[in-house]
Amino acid sequence: MKPARFAYHTPASVDEAIALLARYGGEAKLLAGGQSLVPLLNFRLSRPACLIALNRIAGLSYIHEAAGHVRLGAMTRQRAIEFSPVIRRRLPLLAEATTLVGHLPIRSRGTIGGSLAHADPAAEYPTVLAALGGQVVVRGPRGERTLAAGELFQGYLTTTLAADEMLVEVRLPAMPEGAGFAFEEFSRRHGDFAIVGIAAMVVGQEGGRCSAARLVIAGAGPVPVRLRAAEEILERDGLSDAAVEAAARRAAELVDPPSDIHASADYRRNLTRVLTTRALHRAITHLNPNPNTLSPSGGEGRVRGSS
Ligand SMILES: Cc1cc2nc3c(=O)[nH]c(=O)nc-3n(C[C@H](O)[C@H](O)[C@H](O)COP(=O)(O)OP(=O)(O)OC[C@H]3O[C@@H](n4cnc5c(N)ncnc54)[C@H](O)[C@@H]3O)c2cc1C
Repeated sequence: MKPARFAYHTPASVDEAIALLARYGGEAKLLAGGQSLVPLLNFRLSRPACLIALNRIAGLSYIHEAAGHVRLGAMTRQRAIEFSPVIRRRLPLLAEATTLVGHLPIRSRGTIGGSLAHADPAAEYPTVLAALGGQVVVRGPRGERTLAAGELFQGYLTTTLAADEMLVEVRLPAMPEGAGFAFEEFSRRHGDFAIVGIAAMVVGQEGGRCSAARLVIAGAGPVPVRLRAAEEILERDGLSDAAVEAAARRAAELVDPPSDIHASADYRRNLTRVLTTRALHRAITHLNPNPNTLSPSGGEGRVRGSS
């Protein structure tokens, strides 16, 4: 099928794009990489009166590191993130998660801002945003606001962005030096959206103790779910096999997944336990409790801490 008729604008600035959004009063859609929006248009599941393409706006695609944070422009392509030495060095969990997003041609067009605004609960970027405690910067006619993952994601494919607001930047705190991490997911075919995925990060101490753990699950609810009670088991009991098993069992109890044509709720709950175990074992294997021993070439070639 072909999309329904729409007007097409190519603004040269963020202000111009916001003015267009306001002018169309909720009847316009921003077009970033088009990897989610264009299929929706083709199936006529979305019939906006107007598309506002962001591709000609200069200065919305960048990866900057400063003061312990990495800032990414909303139009930064997923492929640029995948191959960025800064991301590999400072946010290796994001680098690993990016390799799981669709296929290379999709990542060549798809953007981080588009993925977060699309808010698919099985997508990797919303999960990583929640796991790393990141924020998005949103701009509209009333000015700028900054939202954490819990404030951005409202439900299935739904965010708290107003119809006249756009996402302009993503801010992520650099991961602690030496942290172990893994993104594990299960999908039917390579490149498909995950049925369930999990982002795991652990910060270790001598003696197998764990000073901080992050576990966020994708595909087991309408938004990414942080598994705080499972994290607490690791922070209290350490990183032994028994503690990992207990955390994974608790993770499965904490989710309330849907049943749909892809998988039943029970299957997703079981996947949560299995993938949490796998992710934690891999994260722990690559943990470095003494970051001073890390190779300074961590950002070149292989991602530090990944398999
Ligand atoms: C075959 C296939 C497989 C895929 N597999 C995966 C996968 O495994 N994991 C995954 O995460 N994704 C997957 N995707 C989706 C892909 O990652 C998309 O790139 C992403 O979801 C949307 O990014 P985009 O830049 O293409 O946004 P678009 O498709 O252009 O836009 C998506 C939505 O976000 C809105 N939007 C875009 N930019 C902004 C902004 N700056 N501010 C506010 N709203 C905005 C648009 O209006 C639209 O509603 C897949 C896509 C395809 C076609």
